[in-house]
Amino acid sequence: TMKHATLLEQLNIPEVAPAYSTGLEDAPVGGREIREVYSPVDGTLIGKVEMATQEDLEKVIVTAEEAFKVWRKVPAPQRGEVIRKIGEALRKYKDPLGKLVTLEMGKIYQEGLGEVQEMIDICDFAVGLSRQLYGLTMHSERPEHRMYEQWHPIGLVGIISAFNFPVAVWSWNAMIAGVCGDVNIWKPSEKTPLTAVACQNIVKEVLKEEGLPEGIFSYIVGDATIGSSMSHDSRFPLISATGSTRMGKKVGEAVGARLGKSLLELGGNNAVIITENADMEMAIRATVFGAVGTCGQRCTSTRRLIIHESRYEEVKERLVKIYPTLSIGNPLEQANLVGPLIDKDAVVAFQNALSKAKEEGGNVLVGGEVLEGEGYETGTYVKPALVEAQNHFEIVQEETFAPILYLIKYSGTVEDAIAIQNNVKQGLSSAIFTDHMREAEAFLSALGSDCGIANVNIGTSGAEIGGAFGGEKETGGGRESGSDAWKAYMRRQTNTINYGATLPLAQGIKFDL
Ligand code: NAD
Repeated sequence: TMKHATLLEQLNIPEVAPAYSTGLEDAPVGGREIREVYSPVDGTLIGKVEMATQEDLEKVIVTAEEAFKVWRKVPAPQRGEVIRKIGEALRKYKDPLGKLVTLEMGKIYQEGLGEVQEMIDICDFAVGLSRQLYGLTMHSERPEHRMYEQWHPIGLVGIISAFNFPVAVWSWNAMIAGVCGDVNIWKPSEKTPLTAVACQNIVKEVLKEEGLPEGIFSYIVGDATIGSSMSHDSRFPLISATGSTRMGKKVGEAVGARLGKSLLELGGNNAVIITENADMEMAIRATVFGAVGTCGQRCTSTRRLIIHESRYEEVKERLVKIYPTLSIGNPLEQANLVGPLIDKDAVVAFQNALSKAKEEGGNVLVGGEVLEGEGYETGTYVKPALVEAQNHFEIVQEETFAPILYLIKYSGTVEDAIAIQNNVKQGLSSAIFTDHMREAEAFLSALGSDCGIANVNIGTSGAEIGGAFGGEKETGGGRESGSDAWKAYMRRQTNTINYGATLPLAQGIKFDL
């Protein structure tokens, strides 16, 4: 039955993977509910994993708390050295891990590898960062006083991740939190637990070699119930959650109720604007990659295409020609550019969205069919759809996690296009194609795009790790990965030191005893 036994062996994943691991110790297997993981690629059983219980979560938390006492004392550059070794180990496992990402999640192999590369890159970034966790110094208003700020580790970081970037998003959090001196507990998506087991095994190798205590990096397999327990538990000063806005509202509320910190990376409704002055070759290529890449299952996938009326027919014609030529099929085969959706529920959501669009007056130009026949037995392969629509349609206002691109016409100036682009609840990624400086700068100005990511002559998806990643409004406001996103994983302390022999008060207040 285990068609993928060799791959699992390469990644040290046992026949039934443990419900949790604290880095050195794995949960004993037996007695828990077992989850079978089937591939959206070909429907085969990839492996099995045990689902954690509340007692398991308790055990992992207590172990992590103990580990934090040790880890926070390790100098940050030495913590960086551990992360460097994790990066080295990831390089060794890049091929099998990339392949497992493809098998479990369904993105094409090139993107599976890309995801592992992103993990390697964030490790490198974190190593450098480990010597740059800078605070500022300020001039005190009082004589013979010194004032500065420093950043301390925050403690236990709960990482709740989504299925669509099953490993990269964990590494953005865990590697940065790691150099910051935090310990972390990862609850991967219940749809992609095996890639998490694989990552944990890679980390485990390094922790063992380094003689580090267990509990610095842990994972726990569970669904929303475990995620919810984590968000309510005040032993987690920070919960970093990636997923739908629906989930983010629940997590944000639970963490907020206990006045903890949450870092939320939620849904997007990303648009590309094509103005009168766009370089059409570039715009089309970026749009197609953004709309159908990862089968429309990126948080940054292009969902709306806002086109100036003077270019509308040209864009429509070109896309209608390109879409039927997209090779859809097994994502492990190099020739295919579009793999499957994650599961049949996603297929239903895709088709429902298209019906809704039609009901609201939309016009489906191409796509929308579920593929059948040899190679498509899983029923998870669909033809990406192009739909003429209007921005105010209810369905256009929603994020449907599937390859649907809405074509929206605008007339007038770039300001009109920007108004349409901003007129949704989400605020993750945005892009404009124009060779006109004034249009580009208007788009980037304070009056321009309201998104966390705004690109010129680049599509909405495929961010680099060096920048801060995240979005505004219902996307949740969190920022991860590069720039100074590390600050979310530390607590800031302001220190004032009096090296004089008197005790002057701030604001010149007199208080004579
Ligand atoms: P999802 O919301 O269904 O699940 C995400 C994670 O949250 C899973 O681990 C799930 O078990 C957990 N969860 C669900 N309900 C919970 C609750 N009440 N309390 C605690 N945890 C809970 O999302 P998904 O289908 O796995 O992923 C797709 C979504 O993720 C899309 O909306 C996409 O835009 C978003 N996403 C956002 C980013 C970003 O950086 N902004 C990145 C990737 C994905």
